[in-house]
Amino acid sequence: MISINPSPEDRRCQCCYRPTEELTPFPKAPNGQTLFKTFRNFSGCIGASWECYDCIGLSDKEYYKRRDEDEFTKIVRKKVEDIKNGYK
Ligand SMILES: [Zn+2]
Repeated sequence: MISINPSPEDRRCQCCYRPTEELTPFPKAPNGQTLFKTFRNFSGCIGASWECYDCIGLSDKEYYKRRDEDEFTKIVRKKVEDIKNGYK
């Protein structure tokens, strides 16, 4: 089963979750693109994942390790953004 996802609306790497402004553009990307689509095996199901230059080369195992380690950072970032947005 292959699911094609559009580019993530929140413009973040779906592995390390950093926003595009913090990401290194791909050296060969003509338009300075920071996220590229790859495919990951999500427990038996192949799904699209948009990832940055630092993450796209990771194996599935490394991907899960990084993603899960960053879980806490993601939660904190989200909270900070929610607070910021709330005060706009
Ligand atoms: Zn990343």
